[in-house]
Amino acid sequence: MADATSDGLGTERPPSIDALARSLGGTGLPHPLLVDAARSAVARAGRGGSTDAITDVALAEAERLRAGLLQPVVNGTGVLLHTNLGRAPLEVNIDSAYLNLEHDLATGRRGSRQAHVGGLLARACGAEAALVVNNGAAALLVVLAAVAGGQRVVVSRGELVEIGGGFRIPEVMALSRATLVEVGTTNRTRLQDYRDMATDAALLVKVHPSNYRITGFTSSVDVAALAGIGPPVAVDVGSGLLDAACPWLPGGPPAWLSEEPGVRQALDDGAKLVTFSGDKLLGGPQAGVIAGSADLVAACASHPLYRAVRPGGLVLRALQDVALAYLNRTAYRLPFWRLATVPDAELRARAEHLVAGPAPSGTQVTSCAAVAGGGSLPGVEIPSWGVAVPGDHADALRRARQLPVVARVREGTTVINLRSVDVTNDPVVADALAALSK
Ligand SMILES: *Cc1c(COP(=O)(O)O)cnc(C)c1O
Repeated sequence: MADATSDGLGTERPPSIDALARSLGGTGLPHPLLVDAARSAVARAGRGGSTDAITDVALAEAERLRAGLLQPVVNGTGVLLHTNLGRAPLEVNIDSAYLNLEHDLATGRRGSRQAHVGGLLARACGAEAALVVNNGAAALLVVLAAVAGGQRVVVSRGELVEIGGGFRIPEVMALSRATLVEVGTTNRTRLQDYRDMATDAALLVKVHPSNYRITGFTSSVDVAALAGIGPPVAVDVGSGLLDAACPWLPGGPPAWLSEEPGVRQALDDGAKLVTFSGDKLLGGPQAGVIAGSADLVAACASHPLYRAVRPGGLVLRALQDVALAYLNRTAYRLPFWRLATVPDAELRARAEHLVAGPAPSGTQVTSCAAVAGGGSLPGVEIPSWGVAVPGDHADALRRARQLPVVARVREGTTVINLRSVDVTNDPVVADALAALSK
């Protein structure tokens, strides 16, 4: 039976903890978490701590718990797809309601959760069909298991990559029960290397080395040449640039995007399957997409692993909006593309405006480089402008009053890079700068 001094878990606590927890109510945290903060403060103060001191410690502890909740942040790092900040920024307006997730409204029968978004994404990249899973790693895993489980898969030694978070191609291959056949060398792989090993192979896989670059004495084989060998070719393009021509950007592809492979181009070149992430250059929620020929996509959809990595309605709804934006050629309005294509002059003017307001002395406008991030376009810089504040203010900015501002500190200077800051957040940055100057 719960009573006034029970937390509902059957444990009794002294009223002083309860009173202390109640005094922290202004933080907005649920009572059980405030009890944790109060307990931890009392334990740390030991006997003889003054009530005021304990209250201060408890408040700090409650703030620490609150900062641990998922919340929007201002990304001042200049890394547009920052994995620690959720990669592509999301704008989701999802009303609370049931969803025709697997219900066909035309017939009233059971439908497919992939029919909606899969079809739209396929149309947007020129594939026969597409399937959505939880992330890019799962997309490749499902392809390998469904198309090549128990069979041989040929990969260049130059593409046996590790993507962040412990995703290593040889390990994914082992997990899928496909047998990895390595060809070529780290820096050079030729068409004949693939040909020599292609007999009996279920799949030739090409992995885009998203997060590193091999330069110098190198060669690799392009998708079109691989497609002529015989076995189906699967390409893990990683970043999800739907079309290298960027028809959704009024000005066409920006210069910094020139080396990035497009999904449509890989399919045009003869890839039977292409896999990519939803939250990199596609600009959507965390997801993985398998696009390509209808029969192979269907094989992926009917493999038991797919069931284990299928996305929920929340992700599919958000991804549907993204797919529609590409089909409507309004994808330039997706938050990622909007940030990526703001003219430098505009960033500079915003930086000048911020520096003209209250800020610590010595604060200046700075020209700085941004990057796409998220393991795409290594070494490629996007021109940007920002605000440089002398000293290390990273901690204070993360505790900014309106929203946490995540900034970078280089050689004793804190830089807020505006390439990754939405213009609507400039007042938040201005307020944070003003607070630093106090
Ligand atoms: C990012 C990436 C992955 C992993 O995708 P996640 O969505 O992070 O799981 C796999 N392959 C390549 C080439 C990538 O760039």
